[in-house]
Amino acid sequence: MSKPKIFLLRDGAAKLELKLPFPEADYANFKTPIACPACGGPSEKLGVQGSGKHPSQDDRAYEAEGYATCCKAHLGTIRFETGTFFGVREDEAMARLGIRIY
Ligand SMILES: [Zn+2]
Repeated sequence: MSKPKIFLLRDGAAKLELKLPFPEADYANFKTPIACPACGGPSEKLGVQGSGKHPSQDDRAYEAEGYATCCKAHLGTIRFETGTFFGVREDEAMARLGIRIY
């Protein structure tokens, strides 16, 4: 598997790469810090929190609604590309069966 990648997809704008501040974080920061597009909050504090995770239409990633940690404004769609080989739905099915691929 390739390294997972996280992006913020925004309507009519270029996608922005996100990174987790630490592995178990429940929010992500922008790889290239930006000020909050909604409230103008400082870039070093801006994080994006996901809500409603679901497999993406193309089955290559998970997507969730992304909200700003500062003002809770909806910023776009978070896309978590897992680098899946079989597709995320298949990965989930195998995880339920307790099958691990190394
Ligand atoms: Zn904000």
